[in-house]
Amino acid sequence: MVVVLDTVSANPVRPRHPEKANRPDAPSPPKPDWIRVRAPNTRGYADTRRIVKENGLVTVCEEAGCPNIGECWDKKHATFMIMGDTCTRACAFCNVKTGMPGALESSEPEYVAEATRKLGLAHVVVTSVDRDDLDDGGAEHFAQTIRAIRERCPATTIEILTPDFLRKDGALETVAAAKPDVFNHNLETVPSRYLTVRPGARYFHSIRLLQRVKEIDPTIFTKSGIMVGLGEERHEVLQVMDDLRSADVDFLTIGQYLQPTRKHHAVMRYVTPEEFSAYETVAYTKGFLMVSASPLTRSSHHAGEDFAKLQAARANQPR
Ligand code: SF4
Repeated sequence: MVVVLDTVSANPVRPRHPEKANRPDAPSPPKPDWIRVRAPNTRGYADTRRIVKENGLVTVCEEAGCPNIGECWDKKHATFMIMGDTCTRACAFCNVKTGMPGALESSEPEYVAEATRKLGLAHVVVTSVDRDDLDDGGAEHFAQTIRAIRERCPATTIEILTPDFLRKDGALETVAAAKPDVFNHNLETVPSRYLTVRPGARYFHSIRLLQRVKEIDPTIFTKSGIMVGLGEERHEVLQVMDDLRSADVDFLTIGQYLQPTRKHHAVMRYVTPEEFSAYETVAYTKGFLMVSASPLTRSSHHAGEDFAKLQAARANQPR
């Protein structure tokens, strides 16, 4: 497992990704015209930003440099990132800061619940950095956050996007026992690209994690996603779909990888909207209840609307 320790935290100009600082630049091809995003300059965006800052919260929207932030924040949809802004892994695709994180903020579950209430969210998405430094990987903190939101916002449905809790016995069970409505864990890429793209993780561990959630509580919706454009082959994407269906996963997201900086993994290819559409068609034939596949699809993009569709799809399933 890759764990990057921050040994230079006293240095105010410490790079965001010290482990990548000395890598050669990896140039990507220019973005095609189908990758267009809304500028973040609306009133709704400003309101969301204010509430996030007032509650001292971190969002993956900002930390990951998500291209959808203008659209989502305008509608007051933010994805909270708990347990700090510093991740103990160093994935080649991710813009979240790497290093040794600080201690957990014990009031954070309450702050997240309060921000959910202030934003009036019908559906909230909570994710986290990887916390390999904690004995339970942060599982209990996730569970506390779910419980705090339930208490303060009982009508809000809760989606979590978790790390893999690799080698943390009992962590998954702790989170599942708190009963999120949707349990999302992203595979991120096809297995042949793991060593380069997601070196701290294990593909079949992630598949098994999703399968275990369903075994523990079949009422929880399970969800996973991958990025394309990282050098994968089409047949590998189709195999990932089969593996996820074997684990009884309900919802698949597929989006275009975009390079956060030139030190990150290069974009190998921009997948066309037509190819995304074809992936979506194939995924539905394989039995997913919901599929979202488009260049700007992200795990939490339109999560509220998609959750309503997910519920409807389950209700319409033949018994
Ligand atoms: S897609 Fe998700 S991460 Fe991106 S801005 Fe929207 S809510 Fe935030």
